[in-house]
Amino acid sequence: MSFFTGEQYRESLKERTPEIYIMGERVENVAAHPLLRQTVNHIASGYDLIREPEIQNRAIVRSPISGEDIPRLAFHIQQEKEDLFIKAELTREISSQRICTGCGSNMLSITWAMIHDIDAAHGTDYLKRFEDFIIKLHKTGCPPFAWCMMDPKGDRRFPPSQQPESSDLRIVERKSGGIVVNGAKLHTTFGPGAHYIIAVPCRALGKADKDFAVSFAIPIDAKGVKMIARPSPGPSRDVSMESPLSSRFLGVEALTIFDNVFVPEENIFMCGEWEQAVNLSFYFASLHRQSKCACSAGHCDLFAGAAALAADVNGLGMNVAHIRDKITEIIMDGETGYGCALGGAANAQQHPSGVWLPDPLIVNSGLKTIRSTIGKHLEHLHDIAGGLVVTMPTEEDWNNPALRPYIDKALRGNAQYSTEERLRALNLVQDLAASRTTGTLLGFTINAAGSPVTNQVVVRRLYDLEKRIKHAKQIASIFK
Ligand SMILES: Cc1cc2nc3c(=O)[nH]c(=O)nc-3n(C[C@H](O)[C@H](O)[C@H](O)COP(=O)(O)OP(=O)(O)OC[C@H]3O[C@@H](n4cnc5c(N)ncnc54)[C@H](O)[C@@H]3O)c2cc1C
Repeated sequence: MSFFTGEQYRESLKERTPEIYIMGERVENVAAHPLLRQTVNHIASGYDLIREPEIQNRAIVRSPISGEDIPRLAFHIQQEKEDLFIKAELTREISSQRICTGCGSNMLSITWAMIHDIDAAHGTDYLKRFEDFIIKLHKTGCPPFAWCMMDPKGDRRFPPSQQPESSDLRIVERKSGGIVVNGAKLHTTFGPGAHYIIAVPCRALGKADKDFAVSFAIPIDAKGVKMIARPSPGPSRDVSMESPLSSRFLGVEALTIFDNVFVPEENIFMCGEWEQAVNLSFYFASLHRQSKCACSAGHCDLFAGAAALAADVNGLGMNVAHIRDKITEIIMDGETGYGCALGGAANAQQHPSGVWLPDPLIVNSGLKTIRSTIGKHLEHLHDIAGGLVVTMPTEEDWNNPALRPYIDKALRGNAQYSTEERLRALNLVQDLAASRTTGTLLGFTINAAGSPVTNQVVVRRLYDLEKRIKHAKQIASIFK
């Protein structure tokens, strides 16, 4: 296999010299910075995870584009209907263990489809450039890329060309051999751990916005690129018992600044073709939201497991009616979301570029439904696990030999578990439902992949309500 191992990825970070800031200070060494350790670990362990025997044959795929064996969820262009089913299954499985799978394959696939549309409409040859870029990624170890789609957008009522002073990413100069871009992108998940940045537009644009219709790829250390990172939600101190999930996984978010960055011609995939910008949003609303349905189902699996374990260490379990009902509710919400991921795949349509796009009606309805259940699931976790989730002593207290005997005695629960095991189980609930990670999980569920209203917008636009009104009139014998 030619793609990185976790260790090779860590080593590869030394080859890059990105301009990254965190907590107001410049980061000198991404691989070694304590506030980037979860990010680097999340990405590095992802390369190793997919080599594990039980998922290897699904998580690694031979790319028809490059002929290389590549990580499916991060680098594959989804040109077989089967890809959508395998992706949903893997996404659910991996999200249930580490919250985020990384969805690079969705981003490459929707960009592929949009670029195909641009070439078809304008006679350009951007897709060949994009294909060359992807082959380069596949043949150089599959280094991670940051997805820069979301613009700052300023006053939401106006398009970028009507903002008093837009910060959205735009072309400021066209010159021989390339373009110069300026502006910002927000919410760059895992950005500081990437090798490359891929930029795309985030919304429909008009003719006056044509300079904002820009897509390209550049190395993360290209001159003028700066990332201002927000630390991972997990702890900055080493407390793996207290924060079992977030001390290892989830990563930084970043504000990415493009300060007059030169992009060479061979890396430009869209340059002013404003008419096709909206297409990317349509494809995103279909392909990525299918993944989000499966991802949220994985989170339900994680919540259900954590809740059942908490009940067990407390001496209760699924035989207690209200606990059984609440955990069953979490499970059923997860199955609903997963059903929509599969239903969207079953009704998918193939785009002329070869990319399969799941049924947007099903996946947007599914995502709107499942993302709105997270508040209830967090409530159930607190309810089932009990108040210790927010009142128990810390890991440092447990590690103090003078305090441990007191804690050990006071916090004993089900005799089948030691106090330490009980604390570990309750700390998992704390990490999920009562920590900074909870806030990130909420933001991740509610806003990532577009706000809930955008789900409704898609459904309202596509659902054939006129046909239903006609049927209603026929049944009611209304003849006009
Ligand atoms: C954890 C996380 C990770 C993310 N990762 C990435 C990433 O890696 N790359 C990336 O590019 N993006 C990423 N995003 C961005 C994500 O796609 C956006 O947050 C999402 O699309 C919402 O956009 P916004 O944050 O600008 O909110 P807004 O668009 O400001 O939305 C706020 C509210 O205003 C409403 N609204 C906005 N505009 C209008 C309007 N014109 N009329 C009426 N109502 C309006 C919305 O519906 C919503 O209710 C991430 C977000 C999160 C939370």
